Amino acid sequence: MNAEKAAQSGVPDSAETRLEWVRSRMAKAARRFDLEPDRVQLVAVSKTFGPEAITPLITAGQRVFGENRVQEAQAKWPALKEENPDIELHLIGPLQTNKVRDAVRLFDVIETVDREKLARALAREMAAQGRQLPVFVQVNIGGEAQKAGCAIEDTGELVALCRDLGLAVKGLMAIPPADLPPGPCFAHLAQLARDCDLAGLSMGMSGDFETAIAMGATHVRVGSALFGSRETVNQRAGVTGN
Ligand SMILES: *Cc1c(COP(=O)(O)O)cnc(C)c1O
Repeated sequence: MNAEKAAQSGVPDSAETRLEWVRSRMAKAARRFDLEPDRVQLVAVSKTFGPEAITPLITAGQRVFGENRVQEAQAKWPALKEENPDIELHLIGPLQTNKVRDAVRLFDVIETVDREKLARALAREMAAQGRQLPVFVQVNIGGEAQKAGCAIEDTGELVALCRDLGLAVKGLMAIPPADLPPGPCFAHLAQLARDCDLAGLSMGMSGDFETAIAMGATHVRVGSALFGSRETVNQRAGVTGN
């Protein structure tokens, strides 16, 4: 089987094989912890990659994608979505309020609601466009100074505010600190989600999605394991440190 051969030799080289490889690892992780394999959604993070890299994954059956910048996504996704109307595009990067209109128009899920001002702007814009998008509240789970996400202790209040505003809050999202083992952070996020009565958990990336699944992830955001490594210049600008 392709996926197994790939797993033995490292990262496989075609988009289709990579997808099969990631999906088989996800399924294996779910089975190991007696979880329904279908409960975990794969968000393919296509940031820095163009349509020529994205299209083969769409052809291979992938439908859920993630981008971290509104402007970059605007440059490539309208055409791809027109050809594939069942694509679900997630915003997984910081959102400035002056980009909220564009974001609500283009994206299908907003994973990075992390402050009151943004929640209010999103609620207003969704009402104006008649487009009620599911959202996740992003938590700064490692309490890092420069990192996006609301403070752990503010999570309950922000979730409540989002609900009051009529936003469809599906879950919590986080990026654990790069220099710590992610497991305890994932477990902490899962606990916060339970406290807020939220079922969705967007956590886990290429290096740790199996751990995230073990801790209850419902969405894993996987970039480099699907697309290969990103350009150095883009990595520096991006959110992750790998
Ligand atoms: C880039 C990015 C990812 C994917 O990272 P990989 O390590 O390439 O899988 C996941 N989540 C967020 C928020 C990102 O910015």
